[in-house]
Amino acid sequence: MGLLYLGTPLAWDDAKKYADHVRTHGITQFLHIWDRVKDKNGDELLWGDEIEYMVVSFDNEEKNAKLSLRQTEILAKLSAIVNDISSDNDNTIAVPTFHPEYGRYMLESTPGSPYTGYISDLLSVEKNMRYRRSLARKHLKPNEIPLTFTSFPRLGAPGQFTEPYHDPADAVSSHSLFLPEEITNPHARFPTLTANIRRRRGSKVAINLPIFFDEKTPKPFIDPTIPWNRSIYPEDPEARNGAALPDHIYMDAMGFGMGCCCLQLTFQACNVTDARRLYDRLIPIGPILLALTAASPVWRGYLADVDCRWNVIAGSVDDRTEEERGLKPLEHDRFVIPKSRYDSVDLYISEDWINRPEYNDNPLPIDEKIYDRLRNHGIDDLLSKHVSHLFIRDPLVVFSETIDQDDESSSDHFENIQSTNWQTLRFKPPPPNSNIGWRVEFRSMEVQMTDFENAAFSVFVVLLSRAILSFNLNFYVPISKVDVNMGRAQERDAARSRKFYFRKDVFTGSSPYSSGSNSPVDGAPRPKEKKLRNCFPPPPAPLNGDHKGPVEDEYEEMTMDEIMNGKGDHFPGLLGLVSAYVDTLDVEEEALAKIRSYLNLVKDRSNGTLVTAATWIRNFVRSHPAYAKDSVVSQEINYDLLVAVDEIERGARSAPDLLPKDYTGGNKDQGSI
Ligand code: ADP
Ligand code: MG
Ligand code: MG
Ligand code: MG
Repeated sequence: MGLLYLGTPLAWDDAKKYADHVRTHGITQFLHIWDRVKDKNGDELLWGDEIEYMVVSFDNEEKNAKLSLRQTEILAKLSAIVNDISSDNDNTIAVPTFHPEYGRYMLESTPGSPYTGYISDLLSVEKNMRYRRSLARKHLKPNEIPLTFTSFPRLGAPGQFTEPYHDPADAVSSHSLFLPEEITNPHARFPTLTANIRRRRGSKVAINLPIFFDEKTPKPFIDPTIPWNRSIYPEDPEARNGAALPDHIYMDAMGFGMGCCCLQLTFQACNVTDARRLYDRLIPIGPILLALTAASPVWRGYLADVDCRWNVIAGSVDDRTEEERGLKPLEHDRFVIPKSRYDSVDLYISEDWINRPEYNDNPLPIDEKIYDRLRNHGIDDLLSKHVSHLFIRDPLVVFSETIDQDDESSSDHFENIQSTNWQTLRFKPPPPNSNIGWRVEFRSMEVQMTDFENAAFSVFVVLLSRAILSFNLNFYVPISKVDVNMGRAQERDAARSRKFYFRKDVFTGSSPYSSGSNSPVDGAPRPKEKKLRNCFPPPPAPLNGDHKGPVEDEYEEMTMDEIMNGKGDHFPGLLGLVSAYVDTLDVEEEALAKIRSYLNLVKDRSNGTLVTAATWIRNFVRSHPAYAKDSVVSQEINYDLLVAVDEIERGARSAPDLLPKDYTGGNKDQGSI
């Protein structure tokens, strides 16, 4: 969530007066960074994951599972403990870090120091994740468990869903009909962000997810749990005036989205060119891995007809005014903006020749003055567009104490805008005063219920990132098609039943497996690599005939199985590419078996042998004896579901359709609740 400053946040009417100030100085700060590190080169691979948990409090007598709002206490305890940790660490794992998140029931953990390119680091990821989980788990109350669960099924449903209970009537920041103020991290940044989004937008956010119509779901579905006639806040009539759609699950607050948990990965690139290359190549992968990690089919106590969190978060922080959303002619605002600040990437930014201009086919409002400033500073067209597109947004939280900054040594104003553009990928410039290099963050995945799965998807993406750079892979399709894929990825059962646009020839600009450092030279195979490499020779220049045909001929719709496991003779699938990359590594038998076990999970998930978490959860609900086939996920079903999730994680309950047969569990030594 970025750094948390102590200070006095300004309410929207005051904050907006500083919008230009923050933007102008943010760009100055970016230019200082650029001047300092544009030629930075040779950085090694460093990478790390972020895992988010929700702390669930189990009431075994009432058979209720609630969100524990003890984040502040828990984090204080965990930070005291991690400062004094050697006693319960076998000293092979750096002391992890726990961070606050938006929800007052959430924790985020990252490895204590980033992983390197050593294969041993790759293999330590699962252990590291389990260690972090067990550490958190050990320091909670006996009836509390940190679950890696994407969306809490009864967040905002009637009855008690937090521990302790709070009345939604007190939601002074969000004015939500469903979520109390106390759902939000109390640090000033979060309530201010919540309130300023509402104020800037001019109404509450409105998210409508299609309901999953089961045999007995009333049709039309008009949600009886919405307090339609409440009148506490001025926005209360919005629901009945059309914000809440029939046949949908309506949500009206930031907490519904930012209260979800995800799995993110950050990679350091060799230099800025490689960072841009990696960023671009991972853009089309975003929706594919969203569909494969889908884990959130239940919202506000109902089964939805979607499996993923993405659009909920996009809607939950959508601060665009009616003019910006194109509902009214532009009069007070500067741009019509097609997407929320939380959404998919709009622009490919690599200057490689394989990045054809035709691929950037999304509308792209930019701040022209900022664009000109960047161009006049010598920054190329694409990167200038990227930054000036992010900078069409206003800063939402401005602290009165930090309005004036030293633009040479600070990047706060830049980060203020950058870190509230929550997109599928984030291009992260090095912070000032650090050794850190240019980084790319991959942000679309939903968190998985077990660390075996979280490790498997992390390892897969790391290896894919290496295959991309090593083989100079080309995944470009028009970015508007990536957006179509984002929509499809979230639909129910997408991984099994939908098709996605994907590039037919991923070797344009290279020949299969022959570019990069691992290519055979004069027929003699290169020695195998001991480490995941970060820096590669520049990709080859275009050959005659490269790049000529119409863009429409370059892609087609493929099933998940085809995208991952291959199609025909010349597309080996992403797993085929990753396997070919693994073949270039010098890996011991045992390590290889472990890597294979991760890749097999991804494979079985993509060919339909195993189901996604979303499908597993949906099936659990639908086969629960108390389920009335009416889409309602009751308190009792929710309790049993979350007990089952914990049991699966510990290996105390088998889930043969979700996990491989030899899954043995993560926290066996820790008892049940
Ligand atoms: P944010 O919340 O801003 O996305 P975090 O600090 O929570 O970022 O997580 C960043 C991740 O990047 C962590 O997993 C961390 O280990 C990893 N990381 C730290 N330094 C580097 C680096 N130089 N290169 C790549 N990854 C890094
Ligand atoms: Mg986070
Ligand atoms: Mg983080
Ligand atoms: Mg992150």
